[in-house]
Amino acid sequence: MSERILIAVAWPYANGPLHLGHIAGAYLPADIFARYHRIKGNEVLMVSGSDQHGTPITIKAEEEGKTPAEIAAKYHQQFLESWQRLGISFDLFTSTGTPNHATVSQDIFLTLLNKGYIYKSTVSQPYCPHCQRFLPDRYIEGTCPFCGSPRARGDQCDDCGKPLNPVELINPRCRLCGATPQFKDSEHFFFRLSAFQDRLSAWVSEQGQWRPNVSNLTKRYLKEGLRDRAITRDIDWGVAVPVSGFENKRLYVWFEAVIGYLSATKEWAKSIGDEERWRSFWQDDETKSYYFIGKDNIPFHTLIWPAMLMGYGGLNLPYDVPANEFLTIEGKKLSTSRNWAVWLPDYLSRYEPDPLRYLLSINMPDTADTDFSWREFVRRNNDELVATYGNLVNRVLTLVYRNFDGCVPQPGEFDSHSQALINKAEDTLKSMDGLLYRCHFREAIRSAMSLAQETNRYLDEKSPWKIINEDRQASATALHVALSMLSCLRTALYPFLPFSSQRLHQLLGFDGDVKDDGWKLHLPSPGQELLTPSPLFTKLEEKLVEEETQRLGKSD
Ligand SMILES: [Zn+2]
Ligand SMILES: [Zn+2]
Repeated sequence: MSERILIAVAWPYANGPLHLGHIAGAYLPADIFARYHRIKGNEVLMVSGSDQHGTPITIKAEEEGKTPAEIAAKYHQQFLESWQRLGISFDLFTSTGTPNHATVSQDIFLTLLNKGYIYKSTVSQPYCPHCQRFLPDRYIEGTCPFCGSPRARGDQCDDCGKPLNPVELINPRCRLCGATPQFKDSEHFFFRLSAFQDRLSAWVSEQGQWRPNVSNLTKRYLKEGLRDRAITRDIDWGVAVPVSGFENKRLYVWFEAVIGYLSATKEWAKSIGDEERWRSFWQDDETKSYYFIGKDNIPFHTLIWPAMLMGYGGLNLPYDVPANEFLTIEGKKLSTSRNWAVWLPDYLSRYEPDPLRYLLSINMPDTADTDFSWREFVRRNNDELVATYGNLVNRVLTLVYRNFDGCVPQPGEFDSHSQALINKAEDTLKSMDGLLYRCHFREAIRSAMSLAQETNRYLDEKSPWKIINEDRQASATALHVALSMLSCLRTALYPFLPFSSQRLHQLLGFDGDVKDDGWKLHLPSPGQELLTPSPLFTKLEEKLVEEETQRLGKSD
């Protein structure tokens, strides 16, 4: 029976390019999951978009002398190109800058307000007397009370990593003009998160499918007690607050960005000309919704967004939040400000997408932090993708092409070794099915690669190239079994390596799209015509390790 799956993926801030931390943390696992469910024949909707609001965007715009809208548009376009080239298969990748998103966000705001889950309160806010404006946290700088760094911001110190409040800064100053900020009263709306403490606790305790890291962190927050949170800000960039007297304020970005999952679904439904279709993804309780996010975003998706949904009523709560741990780069914590990062557009300008997808899949930080290094990238590409998988494909296809007129040979009876390998292929698909269903991506791709290794051993033992003249039938049988394994691998690896899987699908003489063949073992039909063999992957030179590592940490 087919399932309906909503795949909601973190919204990247449109203030800079994507890096490998983003990809390993959320986008690649989401895409693997979407492709897996699509090849299974399930109904999938994968949505996300650029987060265009918030001070990260306005600060970047001020630095570059552009408007926030220009900055957001520039990076949004870059994101779209990156998804296409890396094969991240969104059904819709929109932005928080659309009128639709504003309408949906304001509807949620007003409904929560009418139900008493949002209330007004006066707070003391930093204000610059010289600029005559309130200063969001990131617009205040000063000396860190913990480490003494002179560059700490009102929300955190990048040098020691501690979160801060503006009042804690020593010698605070306005980032724009350097004047000392004062504190002034300002009226804001608050979300009554505390009212959901019991309902959330009960709900969270039922989510046995969550990863231990997600569950434990969420329970820790619940134990500390949930506090109400401000949901409006003194800023002029963002979604308008639909209440008179609040014309100079905007919805706080954390409040409206999570609503993007819902507004994007509505936009998608309109775009396919079936406006009510969003309901099946949000109101049918048979639908399962998965939120792919980095671990720094867990409480927003396991507590705050669920509370907003509970308050609004009638919409599905998250089914799972498979948050990944972090990816380190060459053994060090990734840092965008220090350029200790591998930027996706740079990677894609020099290399193919599948080797990166392979490394980040087989080394995915799904249960613990993992490291990316260029040495490991080259090693995994050369020793595993090229030597174990690519050479296997090339060896088998070339032998068949040369000795059997480029067509799948007619097999004889399978001996026990051949039958055992066919059985292993069936078992591999079955066990990967279970692993992928539970978001255990690293284990799943490892089991596909072990089938490739097993097939190499089988070929070495059968040596069809040696016996081609003395026992043509035995040679044909062994090659048929090997082709069947390639057929299995194109399916098993499709969620991870979509480009090379589609290529192998064509080389094997199958028509159309690899995903339309479903998640099962197709034995190629005798007589099926193969394409002229060509290598699936390219060996990489060792010298790139040094070239690439030298780029790290340099400012450009
Ligand atoms: Zn510090
Ligand atoms: Zn100022």
